[in-house]
Amino acid sequence: MPGIRSNILFMSGYVPGEQPRDGEYIKLNTNESPYPPSPRVFDAIRETLTSNRLRKYPEPMGDTFRQAASKLLGVSPNQILIGNGSDDILTILTRTFVPEGGLIASPAPSYILYRSLAELQGARFQTVPFTTDWQLPDPWPIANADLTFLANPNSPSGTVVDPASVFRLASRIGTPFVLDEAYADFAESNGLKNVGEGNVVITRTLSKSYALAGIRFGFAVGPEPLIREMLKVKDSYNCDVLSLAAATAAIQDQDYLHETRRKILATRSRLSASLAELGFEVTPSQSNFVWARRNDQAVKPMYEALKARKILIRYMNYPNYGDGLRVSVGSDDEIDLFLKELKNILND
Ligand SMILES: *Cc1c(COP(=O)(O)O)cnc(C)c1O
Repeated sequence: MPGIRSNILFMSGYVPGEQPRDGEYIKLNTNESPYPPSPRVFDAIRETLTSNRLRKYPEPMGDTFRQAASKLLGVSPNQILIGNGSDDILTILTRTFVPEGGLIASPAPSYILYRSLAELQGARFQTVPFTTDWQLPDPWPIANADLTFLANPNSPSGTVVDPASVFRLASRIGTPFVLDEAYADFAESNGLKNVGEGNVVITRTLSKSYALAGIRFGFAVGPEPLIREMLKVKDSYNCDVLSLAAATAAIQDQDYLHETRRKILATRSRLSASLAELGFEVTPSQSNFVWARRNDQAVKPMYEALKARKILIRYMNYPNYGDGLRVSVGSDDEIDLFLKELKNILND
């Protein structure tokens, strides 16, 4: 068709997890928090609405957020870039660093969006399989990649690669290296203290641990020379006043974050143990979801039977790897119901 870039014409487009109407399903498919955001978020949004700020443009760089994040994370505000969700940050990274015909690399299986970003950019995408215990492939990273993505914790596995060794390996190549830490708040380690000089940009989101998936806010932390170039690429006003107010309030309530994290980790242990008892091979998770596989029977029918019973989880099938079920850590009641229905399905 004339006028359409061929890479767009030939790509199928990223398909996000199903988002059914409210209340229709118990939703354990896209790793949202089962808990509400901090009460301070509601206060901040209310304050923004009543102070007549909607008629004005937001802060273009999100300086109020950057100041607050800078204090919390111990980096300079100039090392922080705000985004309309961390997916927006991943797009900005691609547009800043990957030429048409260039190369994006990522270990696999991992976040499916990385391939779509390569396709959108007209770039090639190269994956190298993780080791069987979800450690980095060797050799890694790929020397001629223009941009490398590593989700850490990874999805769907929920596993973590030691951040210090990631930084060591990343320093072997000259091009930017993205450490996608969407789930870092649920993990035992993260790369923040290593960020500064060098070529690693960390991305974070408020969608998961801060229970703000509906607000769309994420950010990058990286070396100033890289962040400076990325600033040129982002839309002038890529975050609105409500999301900026909500995000700033959310990160200023660390007690609340720790409390929800504690609850989610407790439920995660229970979910993992119960799935193992039911005969699943469960990968030890450092995220707010659990990856479960089995080799004695097919898992896709289980996903379908659960869906028929109004419980939505994620069925994933990866080329050259295989399939499994990814279950978000919901509330205790949701997980109890999920386990009860799964037992019924297995006994049918
Ligand atoms: C959820 C997720 C993101 C994106 O989150 P946003 O909602 O766009 O902030 C990025 N990377 C990974 C690996 C994710 O799972």
